[in-house]
Amino acid sequence: MNPSRRSFLTLAATAVPLAALGASSAWAAVCYDPATLPLSQKNRRRSIGYMDVAADPARRCAGCAFFTAAEEGCGKCLMLNAAVNAGASCGSFAPRGK
Ligand code: SF4
Repeated sequence: MNPSRRSFLTLAATAVPLAALGASSAWAAVCYDPATLPLSQKNRRRSIGYMDVAADPARRCAGCAFFTAAEEGCGKCLMLNAAVNAGASCGSFAPRGK
Protein backbone atom coordinates (compact mmCIF):
# COMPACT_ATOMS: atom_id res chain seq x y z
CA MET A 1 0.00 0.00 0.00
CA ASN A 2 1.44 3.39 -0.89
CA PRO A 3 2.01 5.89 1.94
CA SER A 4 -0.59 8.42 0.82
CA ARG A 5 -3.31 5.75 0.61
CA ARG A 6 -2.33 4.45 4.06
CA SER A 7 -2.45 7.99 5.47
CA PHE A 8 -5.87 8.56 3.98
CA LEU A 9 -7.24 5.31 5.40
CA THR A 10 -5.78 6.07 8.82
CA LEU A 11 -7.31 9.55 8.76
CA ALA A 12 -10.69 8.19 7.65
CA ALA A 13 -10.68 5.52 10.36
CA THR A 14 -10.01 8.19 12.97
CA ALA A 15 -12.31 10.90 11.65
CA VAL A 16 -15.53 8.85 11.48
CA PRO A 17 -15.62 7.91 15.19
CA LEU A 18 -14.61 11.44 16.16
CA ALA A 19 -17.40 12.86 14.02
CA ALA A 20 -19.88 10.54 15.73
CA LEU A 21 -18.54 11.60 19.12
CA GLY A 22 -18.89 15.24 18.13
CA ALA A 23 -22.49 14.71 17.07
CA SER A 24 -23.24 12.97 20.35
CA SER A 25 -21.67 15.79 22.36
CA ALA A 26 -23.60 18.36 20.37
CA TRP A 27 -26.86 16.58 21.21
CA ALA A 28 -25.90 16.39 24.87
CA ALA A 29 -25.00 20.06 25.06
CA VAL A 30 -28.53 21.04 24.02
CA CYS A 31 -30.21 19.61 27.13
CA TYR A 32 -27.43 19.32 29.71
CA ASP A 33 -23.73 19.95 30.03
CA PRO A 34 -21.91 16.59 30.01
CA ALA A 35 -18.78 18.29 31.34
CA THR A 36 -20.49 19.31 34.58
CA LEU A 37 -22.45 16.13 35.30
CA PRO A 38 -21.70 14.86 38.80
CA LEU A 39 -19.88 11.52 38.97
CA SER A 40 -22.99 9.86 40.40
CA GLN A 41 -24.99 10.97 37.35
CA LYS A 42 -22.26 9.76 34.98
CA ASN A 43 -22.25 6.39 36.73
CA ARG A 44 -26.03 6.14 36.66
CA ARG A 45 -26.08 6.92 32.93
CA ARG A 46 -23.35 4.37 32.31
CA SER A 47 -25.17 1.70 34.35
CA ILE A 48 -28.35 1.96 32.27
CA GLY A 49 -26.47 2.28 28.98
CA TYR A 50 -27.57 5.84 28.26
CA MET A 51 -26.73 7.06 24.72
CA ASP A 52 -27.34 10.64 23.58
CA VAL A 53 -28.44 9.43 20.16
CA ALA A 54 -30.73 6.38 20.10
CA ALA A 55 -29.50 3.56 17.88
CA ASP A 56 -33.12 2.51 17.37
CA PRO A 57 -35.52 5.40 16.62
CA ALA A 58 -38.41 3.35 18.05
CA ARG A 59 -36.71 3.38 21.47
CA ARG A 60 -36.11 7.11 21.92
CA CYS A 61 -36.59 8.79 25.29
CA ALA A 62 -39.46 10.78 23.79
CA GLY A 63 -41.45 7.53 23.60
CA CYS A 64 -40.43 6.22 27.01
CA ALA A 65 -42.76 6.01 30.00
CA PHE A 66 -40.03 7.53 32.21
CA PHE A 67 -39.72 10.68 30.06
CA THR A 68 -41.38 14.03 30.78
CA ALA A 69 -41.01 16.55 27.98
CA ALA A 70 -39.54 19.97 28.76
CA GLU A 71 -38.17 22.47 26.26
CA GLU A 72 -37.81 21.57 22.58
CA GLY A 73 -35.91 18.30 22.16
CA CYS A 74 -35.28 17.85 25.89
CA GLY A 75 -36.98 16.37 28.91
CA LYS A 76 -36.51 14.78 32.29
CA CYS A 77 -35.92 11.08 32.86
CA LEU A 78 -37.46 9.70 36.04
CA MET A 79 -34.93 6.86 36.12
CA LEU A 80 -32.00 9.28 36.08
CA ASN A 81 -33.83 12.13 37.80
CA ALA A 82 -32.09 14.43 35.34
CA ALA A 83 -32.33 16.09 31.96
CA VAL A 84 -31.96 13.97 28.84
CA ASN A 85 -32.29 14.43 25.11
CA ALA A 86 -35.61 13.41 23.60
CA GLY A 87 -33.63 11.53 20.93
CA ALA A 88 -31.52 9.58 23.44
CA SER A 89 -32.14 6.08 24.72
CA CYS A 90 -30.98 3.53 27.26
CA GLY A 91 -31.37 -0.11 28.25
CA SER A 92 -34.23 0.73 30.64
CA PHE A 93 -36.46 2.07 27.87
CA ALA A 94 -40.12 1.29 28.58
CA PRO A 95 -42.65 2.14 25.85
CA ARG A 96 -45.17 4.77 26.85
CA GLY A 97 -48.70 3.41 27.29
CA LYS A 98 -51.29 4.29 24.71
S1 SF4 B 1 -35.35 5.36 31.06
FE1 SF4 B 1 -36.42 6.13 29.26
S2 SF4 B 1 -36.34 8.39 29.44
FE2 SF4 B 1 -34.77 7.52 30.81
S3 SF4 B 1 -32.88 7.52 29.61
FE3 SF4 B 1 -33.83 5.50 29.39
S4 SF4 B 1 -35.08 5.64 27.52
FE4 SF4 B 1 -34.58 7.72 28.18
